[in-house]
Amino acid sequence: MRAAVYLGEGAVRIEEREVPRPGPGEVLVAMRACGICGSDLMQWYQDPRAPVVLGHEPVGVVLEAAGDELPQPGTRVFIHHHVPCGACEYCRRGHETLCDTFKATRIEPGGFSELILVPALNAALDLLTLPDHVSDEAATLIEPLACCVRGLDRARVDDTTRLLVIGGGQMGLLIAEAALARGAEVTVAEPREDRRALATSLGARGVEPTAEAVGSPTVVMLATGAAAAWALALASADRGGIIQLFAPSGPGERRDFGVDDLFFRELEIQASYSAGPRDTRAALALIADGHISADKLITHRFPLEETEAALAAARSKEGIKVVVTSA
Ligand SMILES: [Zn+2]
Ligand SMILES: [Zn+2]
Repeated sequence: MRAAVYLGEGAVRIEEREVPRPGPGEVLVAMRACGICGSDLMQWYQDPRAPVVLGHEPVGVVLEAAGDELPQPGTRVFIHHHVPCGACEYCRRGHETLCDTFKATRIEPGGFSELILVPALNAALDLLTLPDHVSDEAATLIEPLACCVRGLDRARVDDTTRLLVIGGGQMGLLIAEAALARGAEVTVAEPREDRRALATSLGARGVEPTAEAVGSPTVVMLATGAAAAWALALASADRGGIIQLFAPSGPGERRDFGVDDLFFRELEIQASYSAGPRDTRAALALIADGHISADKLITHRFPLEETEAALAAARSKEGIKVVVTSA
């Protein structure tokens, strides 16, 4: 089988690998499509791991399933890259993405590969069968959308929320659509005019990232690690508001705040990292029910052989979501 091996500094080599054999409870899946995440482009994060097969938003068709309870050959599935134990203290407190099992479980070799071996625990807990009307391409949004669902839940976003999303890239726009589905009032602050227009076309209010334009949100989600986003969040959040870190900023980054400013405004600072099995199911339901505009968000497609070009296209930010496909 062919796998796209990331070598560091944006370079990818297509390698021939041995076909993995599924052990008890494991599933072998033929990849059909896998989205590129912003984290696949963060060289400070990925280069130390190289050589590595990236891609953690894969969708495919089951080839072999070593268990009767599992999705059987021919079934189209979403594969979750990590799964929590569900029983440890982190899981019980709702921090399932911090669970040791979550960190230890991983698909082999990764999403940008012709074939993917799904470990038994991932297969048992978070291998979701796709409805016929959800395309492979749309289903690549399940994983990133699940992260958005978890972020919205942690920030208690509902139909009374005035949500400000800072950053109108793939994650910011997915957050916006998922929040609109909950009835929230959504503003997307984004420096690029074309992305503001896209946010507006999705039903949000696309505005420039200035204190005057964003109003007084009850919840701010930072879908960018930029320092200016932190300052805007702090300046604009309403009294009693929530500021959520939703994107990494880079090693050693620090942010400033006034202690009394937080205290007297009772601001809540929180973070949301990755997603669990409950979130992937909610994300699939949002997509299946037509709440997510995959046709507007997925702008570029590249075959597996051109994974390096796909990463370069995603890095160029000329489109929104870039997807690697099997053919
Ligand atoms: Zn990701
Ligand atoms: Zn756990």
